[in-house]
Amino acid sequence: MSIFPKIKKCPCCTAINLIRINGVTYDNQFKSIEDLTLKKIFSCRECKQQLGLFINQSERKEKLIWLEHYKCYDDHFNDLSRLEIEKHKSKKASKKYFVILKEIRKVKNAISLSQTKAKIKLKIQNRGMLIRQI
Ligand SMILES: [Zn+2]
Repeated sequence: MSIFPKIKKCPCCTAINLIRINGVTYDNQFKSIEDLTLKKIFSCRECKQQLGLFINQSERKEKLIWLEHYKCYDDHFNDLSRLEIEKHKSKKASKKYFVILKEIRKVKNAISLSQTKAKIKLKIQNRGMLIRQI
């Protein structure tokens, strides 16, 4: 384990954060990335959003996630997975197939709507502060 802090760019505002991790792991409640280990939860020093550092133990890859934004997707993960399986099982161009496609589109729209809301909320919170564009 390194004693040096990790340098991580905030996925939300791109500010650089220095973080230290120790042996502690957190409870990962995200269904879509349940195979990853949550090593750290912290607030970005710039935008104050809660970020999670996830580690894929087998590939030794790290992923820094804006938790509130990601949760919008994760909340619908089970629905999406179920629909994708149904889509796969149903005959292409059948009536059922199109119904499923429509359902998938609805769920994806709901995800992007809540992600947009999270971004708007962030901009309102940071009003008056400099928001750096990605
Ligand atoms: Zn940030």
